Amino acid sequence: MIALVDMDAFFAAVEQHDNPSLRGRPVGVVNGERGSTIIAASYEARPFGIRTGTQWSEARERCREIVRIVARPARYAEVSGRIMTALAEVSPEIEVFSVDEAFLDLTSCQDYYRHDPQRIACLIQKTVHKASGLSCSVGIAGDKTTAKWAARQQKPHGLVVIHPDEAEALLAPLPLTELCGIGPGIAEFFAHYGVRVCGDMRKIPISVPARRFGNLGRRLWLMAQARDPAPVETRRREQKSISHGKILPPDTRDPVVLQTFYMHLAEKMGVRLRRGGLVVRDFHIGLRAPEGWRQAWLQVEQPTDDGLAIFQLCKRFLRQHWFGEVVRQIHIHGGSPCPTGQQPDFFEPPPGRDSNRVMDEVNSQFGAFTLHRGLMHGHARTAPIISPAWAHHGTASGFLTITPGTEPKGRKKR
Ligand SMILES: [Mg+2]
Repeated sequence: MIALVDMDAFFAAVEQHDNPSLRGRPVGVVNGERGSTIIAASYEARPFGIRTGTQWSEARERCREIVRIVARPARYAEVSGRIMTALAEVSPEIEVFSVDEAFLDLTSCQDYYRHDPQRIACLIQKTVHKASGLSCSVGIAGDKTTAKWAARQQKPHGLVVIHPDEAEALLAPLPLTELCGIGPGIAEFFAHYGVRVCGDMRKIPISVPARRFGNLGRRLWLMAQARDPAPVETRRREQKSISHGKILPPDTRDPVVLQTFYMHLAEKMGVRLRRGGLVVRDFHIGLRAPEGWRQAWLQVEQPTDDGLAIFQLCKRFLRQHWFGEVVRQIHIHGGSPCPTGQQPDFFEPPPGRDSNRVMDEVNSQFGAFTLHRGLMHGHARTAPIISPAWAHHGTASGFLTITPGTEPKGRKKR
């Protein structure tokens, strides 16, 4: 459940709020003393066809009474800051999309708001009004693009909820350009394939836009069908945790093989942490045995971004929680990453920094796992893509030395 909160005529509304004599009057906000273009028009000016982008000279011709106001960006930023802070109280998963728009991911707080989107939308409007004295429009839907479209439908002070089941049919008759992010250029590309309204999109395969626009193309294809996959990008969400997991080939119970897979995840996590300039102290490590998941939190002595240090934890986890059974799935989850360089240890330099740096440099040039640790030798480059092949053929096909049907080996042999 995603909400898009869009302030109504934001800059103009701030001016009318701060200066009561402007209330109820057509106002055009321009950029600077000599600004020639209107960057925000109050709702009183809109019946004259005056909106963002209208030339001031033209606006004057259409509406003699329009009041010219020079923009005060610092004031708008300040009001915006107060609004966003207040909205973060409704849901901490907030993406500030622009100075006057924000996405809120409400998925995980639906319970708290009794699964009532209307009620949440009202709460959002009240919250914004309390923080700023201004009004906003809210669209709630199952994906970002639909939510954004919904918010525009009943401005000002609009409140539109579109249930995911109804979204595709609602968008179907709309020209593609009605959707956020689809300009005339992209629309022209799709028109070439007979796709003019959103509903046409399902007639072409996803590969058509994917070939032309890559991942964006895939997103566009889904967007038109009200299935925009883009998440609400909160920085907090990125920082909350980093996870890597893997479904293992059938009958994986060889300790060396298992370790190799863990090392793979540990190294991937190390690379990802280093790329983000992050370190982690607490790791949640798990494996899925036939009867279910076994998991534990393990801690390194000092926060790390080193794959080998993470791998050592995995080995400790295996010693404590694995007794030779078949393992179906494994995962590593790094909790609360913090920026590298916090609380450095003066006495013991973090291990493995130099070799990691070299490894990262080589691999960024020649591909992931070109340079890798000994345990992974011979497996490193194929491991990330091996599991689909396994599902199909169900044999080792020369990959890892796995002997199906091996009896549990007991603790000593590991
Ligand atoms: Mg707006």
